[in-house]
Amino acid sequence: MAKVTRDFFIGLSNNRFLNTQAKKWGFSLGADKFVAGTTVESVMKAVKQLNRQGISCTLDNLGEFVSDKTEAGQAKDKIITLLDTIHRENVDCHITVKLTQLGLDIDQDYCIGNMKAILNTAQQYGTFVNIDMEDYSHYEQTLEVLHALRDHYNNVGTVIQSYLYRAEDDLADLKDVRIRLVKGAYKESEDVAYPDKQDIDQNFLKLAKQRLLGDTFTSIGTHDHHIINELKAFVQEHHIDNDTFEFQMLYGFRNDLQHKLADEGYHFCTYIPFGDDWFGYFMRRLAERPQNINLVVKDMFYTEDNKLKKGPIVAGAAVASAIALWQIRANRDKKGD
Ligand SMILES: Cc1cc2nc3c(=O)[nH]c(=O)nc-3n(C[C@H](O)[C@H](O)[C@H](O)COP(=O)(O)OP(=O)(O)OC[C@H]3O[C@@H](n4cnc5c(N)ncnc54)[C@H](O)[C@@H]3O)c2cc1C
Repeated sequence: MAKVTRDFFIGLSNNRFLNTQAKKWGFSLGADKFVAGTTVESVMKAVKQLNRQGISCTLDNLGEFVSDKTEAGQAKDKIITLLDTIHRENVDCHITVKLTQLGLDIDQDYCIGNMKAILNTAQQYGTFVNIDMEDYSHYEQTLEVLHALRDHYNNVGTVIQSYLYRAEDDLADLKDVRIRLVKGAYKESEDVAYPDKQDIDQNFLKLAKQRLLGDTFTSIGTHDHHIINELKAFVQEHHIDNDTFEFQMLYGFRNDLQHKLADEGYHFCTYIPFGDDWFGYFMRRLAERPQNINLVVKDMFYTEDNKLKKGPIVAGAAVASAIALWQIRANRDKKGD
């Protein structure tokens, strides 16, 4: 059943029509639990609050499914403006980008051109830029772009997903590159990725330990307290310098644990997504944990004193139900083909 729910929300996250429609509906469906608003001003507010609590941030100006150069160029310009703002506001924060937002599906060289424009500005400000890892169909290209950029810039890194069989080999190739290690958020074939959670978790621990024993900075991107506790013990046992790694979690998840780790003296970084292209990101978060759905549904329907909400929020819930029904119907029609 959990797998059905997961596949359902991953299916929604990949639906271009719904992604476009969501921009028109506006920011709703409870997305504000996991996305820090739609504007640079709203995200800066969140960054400053976390910085005051000793937490650094990485900002993702959300966007995917870009298929024309005008849109990709606009995304690049927005990211450069974001870098200007980070510098001007003097906040403790780097940025995260997705290559498909910058034209990877249009033309790889064009995408590299956009990345170079971003990295030139980032280098000037001494800001790090991380490239998110998307689904496996973009994996090879993402590594190719990274290698092309690393010939000219050292302020760029990427993400490795422990669900991939090839993750260990790729990490060995990237031993001098700053990496965020995660489990992996997309639905991948068993030909390329471990299907079982236990294998993915074990591989995560193995790869994290290999990285921690190396010299290059690593971000440990997980909300999994079992993994975090084991890595904390490993770091102590091997006298690993706290300055060589950080923990990362997504905005809105496990806030208590985020603050606890920062208070314990670990470098902690919160990944904050923002922008009007929130739908795909939000659906992937719902896919990961049934509890996230409960959280959002409760937030949609009830006020803090447990009274039923009315008005636009309930309209949001109605739209969510409509999406669910629409998807079930689409699946049924597909089966009937
Ligand atoms: C900073 C960051 C960046 C990421 N970037 C990418 C990327 O570029 N590409 C990509 O494919 N994926 C990315 N991801 C997503 C990632 O791949 C996983 O899909 C996601 O993090 C879920 O795995 P997990 O390790 O956090 O915990 P899970 O495997 O989902 O959960 C493990 C256990 O942790 C505990 N737990 C987890 N979440 C919670 C919670 N909210 N509350 C209470 N307990 C909880 C539970 O005990 C659970 O059983 C990123 C994740 C993070 C944190």
